[in-house]
Amino acid sequence: MDNNLLSKLREDLEGDVQFDNLTKTLYATDASVYRKIPLGAAFPKSVEDIKKIVCFANDENISLIPRTAGTSLAGQCVGDGLVVDVSKHFTDIIRVDEAKKQVTVQPGVIRDELNEYLKPYGLFFGPNTSTSNRCMIGGMVGNNSSGTTSIQYGVTRDKVISMKTVLSDGSEAEFGRISTEEFKQKIQENTFEASLYKKVYNELSNKEIASEIKENFPKPEIHRRSTGYAVDELLKTDIFGGDLSYFNMAELLCGSEGTLAFTTEITVQLDPLPPALSAMVITHYTTLEDCLMDVVPVMEHPLQLCEMMDKVILDCTKNNRAQLANRFFVEGDPAALLMLQVSAHTKKELEDAIAALQKTIANSGLSYANPVLYGDQIAKAIELRKAGLGLLGNIVGDMKAVACIEDTAVALPDLKDFIAEFSLIMKGYGQSAVY
Ligand SMILES: Cc1cc2nc3c(=O)[nH]c(=O)nc-3n(C[C@H](O)[C@H](O)[C@H](O)COP(=O)(O)OP(=O)(O)OC[C@H]3O[C@@H](n4cnc5c(N)ncnc54)[C@H](O)[C@@H]3O)c2cc1C
Repeated sequence: MDNNLLSKLREDLEGDVQFDNLTKTLYATDASVYRKIPLGAAFPKSVEDIKKIVCFANDENISLIPRTAGTSLAGQCVGDGLVVDVSKHFTDIIRVDEAKKQVTVQPGVIRDELNEYLKPYGLFFGPNTSTSNRCMIGGMVGNNSSGTTSIQYGVTRDKVISMKTVLSDGSEAEFGRISTEEFKQKIQENTFEASLYKKVYNELSNKEIASEIKENFPKPEIHRRSTGYAVDELLKTDIFGGDLSYFNMAELLCGSEGTLAFTTEITVQLDPLPPALSAMVITHYTTLEDCLMDVVPVMEHPLQLCEMMDKVILDCTKNNRAQLANRFFVEGDPAALLMLQVSAHTKKELEDAIAALQKTIANSGLSYANPVLYGDQIAKAIELRKAGLGLLGNIVGDMKAVACIEDTAVALPDLKDFIAEFSLIMKGYGQSAVY
């Protein structure tokens, strides 16, 4: 592209556009293995700027790559168009609605910083990625992010109430819950926004298309998944024969990786801060299979967190000075362990929750040790779990771990068979996997 055009765009914006080699190299990658040199990076300062950038992209027939923290693992922020980085200027927490337990933010607000801000209100944003100290709400919506706490608090899509956006024609539109009646009115209107509702209506009211979606999408009980566009979610509304009496286009935008609209404002549902008291039961196993078999019964308890560490990762922490102290709870040399966290408001409730969990564990009889951790001990165990992935890079010898198949999602009852089959495939290639 002619740099004069990008210079002209820069002049038109309140914000900035950079297209020197250093910027292009920096923005050629995100946290994934993919690389592509973009045309440059734009740093809009206002919604007007974003509208101008969208119109510029239309005129010049180029693509836009919205970006917040760029911690995506599958090349979501990589492309040969113009990167539009909103992490610099779209960082405001706009308002907190205490009564509704909702917060409205710009896309560049960092997840952990939002939760720090919300603490005095006794509220927090539940979905918790490993990158929570740097990832931003716009990117979490783009990826429909989830993480350790999603078994208790859900994934980002569950939390999105509404979104303000700029559409591909440069117009602004807000998407949120609308009733069936409002939906019917909407599709009569003569705007670009209305044409999107109409398109969805025409496609999803086609019975053949609807049944193909229902048959071919992954099992609905696999909640932590992001498989293409969430058109299956839209089918749940009564307009298409489902149970829900409302329609929310924001559910489709969530997880669409910036390909459908440019987000400028997001309102999300919050949760009350987790109960203050916590305990973590750490079950130890002599085989991976035993560990995976225990996942189904323990997940029937209201766990705050259920994470696994296998021997490969545990071994990596043996030779690391910082992490050696965090292994204090490991008994023997387990093939795998599960970290099961329960929380409660009172000591009695906590004791009851631990006792119930221990009963389930004893009934299965698969684990050989089940120490219980409290207070700071829990934070140390979580630190060990978080550090494990990074330490994989330090495996001694020529064989190194490569992150190539990540974040697969299956229904819990299928977990054991899935891992067994997957291990077999790996064995066929003379490889082993880290779980
Ligand atoms: C070590 C590591 C661990 C991770 N662990 C997890 C995990 O536990 N759970 C998890 O879900 N993910 C995880 N991830 C992936 C990633 O960190 C998260 O998905 C994170 O929420 C992405 O946020 P981000 O701000 O970096 O978004 P980005 O990577 O900048 O963007 C994510 C997507 O959102 C789009 N987008 C961003 N802003 C906008 C906007 N304004 N309008 C429209 N689209 C927009 C982008 O185009 C892109 O498609 C991990 C990544 C790493 C490197």
